[in-house]
Amino acid sequence: MRQKLVVGNWKMHGSRTQVRQLIESVAASTADLKKVEIAVGPTLLHIGFAAELCTSEDASHLKLAAQNLFTEPEGAFTGEVSAPMLAEYGVNYVIVGHSERREFFAETDQVVAAKFKATQASGMIPILCVGESLSQREAGTSAEVVLTQLNAVIQSAGIEALQYAVLAYEPLWAIGTGKTASKEQAQEIHHVLREHIAKSNATIAEDIRILYGGSVKAANAAELFSQADIDGGLVGGASLKAEEFVSICKSAD
Ligand code: PEP
Repeated sequence: MRQKLVVGNWKMHGSRTQVRQLIESVAASTADLKKVEIAVGPTLLHIGFAAELCTSEDASHLKLAAQNLFTEPEGAFTGEVSAPMLAEYGVNYVIVGHSERREFFAETDQVVAAKFKATQASGMIPILCVGESLSQREAGTSAEVVLTQLNAVIQSAGIEALQYAVLAYEPLWAIGTGKTASKEQAQEIHHVLREHIAKSNATIAEDIRILYGGSVKAANAAELFSQADIDGGLVGGASLKAEEFVSICKSAD
């Protein structure tokens, strides 16, 4: 039985005060949830601060997700942060292949695969994002696009690596737009991803958690999470509002 997972991707938002307030209020309102696993994803700058807050007794049920890392463990890479540095702060998950990284920072499938491997090499779990654009959906190539993105990682890291990974289906046309994929549209692609993995390894396919991301909110979370192959959510905008995010977490519990 796969445990549901809800991850808040705070993107480039948050002051120290906001980070503290969000963590404290999310932690307080989710302490009694029994089944769902919850992670928060502050900026890399705030990781250390968030890690301290999350190790306090009242927030110790919250996991920590980083939004990015660099592929090399150390060296002359001005401005970058490595996997061992994040692991030292107790980071549990690292988001890799987010469409904003692919689009605004020109991250190719090869770079994404390298980040996926760097994450695992430091004992953390990559959340591998895949998703199609609106024109690709309209051209009927959604499944092809997400499988190409997934295959790039499988080819580089091997199918067994998916044992220690989470997938996130994030259609680009639904990210930050307010337009959510219908539960049928999301379920269809989640099923395609799981079936594809099953062709190589049925156990990993059964065990791997596939999150949906793209304008998840309190109003649509429950119906998305009720789908057979949707194991939780990667939540952007709505994760910045404690009440809304807590309500999404409750829908997954
Ligand atoms: C995201 O950035 O991963 C995301 C899903 O954003 P939003 O929920 O705002 O669409």
